[in-house]
Amino acid sequence: MPAKVLILNPPSPDASYINRDLMGGMGVHNAPPGRDIRAKIIFRIKSIVIHIPMTHLVNAATVLKQRGHELKIIDAINTGEGIEHVLKEAKAFGPQFVLMGVSSGCFKFERDDVARRLKEEIPGVKVIAAGDMITEMPQELLPYFDFAVMGEVEQSVPLIVEGVPYKEIQSIIWQENNEVRKSEGGKRFIPVEELEKLPFPDWGLWPYKHYSYYPMLTKTPVVLIQASRGCPYGCGYCPYPANQGRLWRARSAESVFEEIKWDVEKFGIKAVFFRDPLFTANQERAEKLCDLIIQSGIKIQFCFETRPELLSKPGLIEKLAKAGCRTINFGVEDIHPEILKKINRLPLPLDKILDTIHRCEKAGIRTSCFFILGLPGSTKQTMEETIEFSRKLFGSQTEYKIATPFPGTMLYKMAKENKWLTSEGFDKLGSYSASMRISGEFDEHYLERLSEKSFVDYYFSPRYLVRYFMRGDFLTTLQTIIKAKLRGDF
Ligand code: SF4
Repeated sequence: MPAKVLILNPPSPDASYINRDLMGGMGVHNAPPGRDIRAKIIFRIKSIVIHIPMTHLVNAATVLKQRGHELKIIDAINTGEGIEHVLKEAKAFGPQFVLMGVSSGCFKFERDDVARRLKEEIPGVKVIAAGDMITEMPQELLPYFDFAVMGEVEQSVPLIVEGVPYKEIQSIIWQENNEVRKSEGGKRFIPVEELEKLPFPDWGLWPYKHYSYYPMLTKTPVVLIQASRGCPYGCGYCPYPANQGRLWRARSAESVFEEIKWDVEKFGIKAVFFRDPLFTANQERAEKLCDLIIQSGIKIQFCFETRPELLSKPGLIEKLAKAGCRTINFGVEDIHPEILKKINRLPLPLDKILDTIHRCEKAGIRTSCFFILGLPGSTKQTMEETIEFSRKLFGSQTEYKIATPFPGTMLYKMAKENKWLTSEGFDKLGSYSASMRISGEFDEHYLERLSEKSFVDYYFSPRYLVRYFMRGDFLTTLQTIIKAKLRGDF
């Protein structure tokens, strides 16, 4: 018998945006901890121009629909609906299950406000948490979540709502008599053959006209595509290998192209954000996808994340630009090989990174470069040197995040073993807040101030501002904000 399932991406506890999809599924709360008004302005703009759905929820809705369940989707964080409105709609629908997106930066709000109130308003409803961080801290499920899913949602969520005994479902956590139970065998990942058989998301169920990912993508509406899952590199701070496994599982270029075509023809989609940890792990496949797009004449803008050395195939960068690639996100993290090796990140020669970024920008592809402050082994001086390098690199966007011990990562284990954690639970795991003290030389407040200062110095430097106005980015930002206002996003 079909179940009634509400798929909920909840609102934010404040005016800032929560991107529950980023940081390998751990989520990012776009709220700078400092007081600099310039940082607050930039973060406010980001909260207006970045609105993307949550991959786990989209994937679950796709398979639940295929299996004939009755669905209602509320993507409140992206449509601007407040908690009262969400509860009213949820109550009117009367679901048996609510599959709710959660994130590390505001988990308390999601559990103690949203899940609690759903259970109070809808007697008997079972609330399932979809977010990757609960795996390592299962006790956080209590008292308001009934289940949490580990690994890939397509395997476990349908079985939960179809009434399969919990003990027989792999990759879930559930509560029984106020105690937490975890299924045996840990997480399960979907093999490639099955990935290729999964149906494409029905964006008609989603408020996709609200989705935007500016400035990485200037066109709207934007949707997500997972062209591959998993990452073989295993960088110790990164949630992807923990949450998707280290085996790179990629759909064929043809299968990905078919999904792009479906999105464009059926929903009028103009831009795609590939949610792969490592989009160009196979450069031939990336090139083939570009060829298919170019030959078809389809106009699509796209962006993705990769490592600089995975764009080494001659002509690939230029072909990506021709096919519609607008932005590539790169994790540079730190420039010191000894710091990177400590955390299992493969270091690259700095001239290679510089060369790749400059070749992309020359070909017309914008670059976003991510740095991490406060990795184990960092000193004030090493962090200054890394920040200095970020200025030399001069990517179109630059982010200075703070080393965050996401549960399930090697960094989390190191932080536990070395007693670096300065807060328990998920509250401080937000990428812009510091939750570890790794050295006697600086504390969490120093890191938060440094992250904010480097960010403001970068975006308000005369060199950045000249480029910003010369490229017409001021006008594009203004247009994007106006469009978001007209859509009612804020
Ligand atoms: S290469 Fe990127 S996605 Fe892969 S583990 Fe390292 S940081 Fe994560």
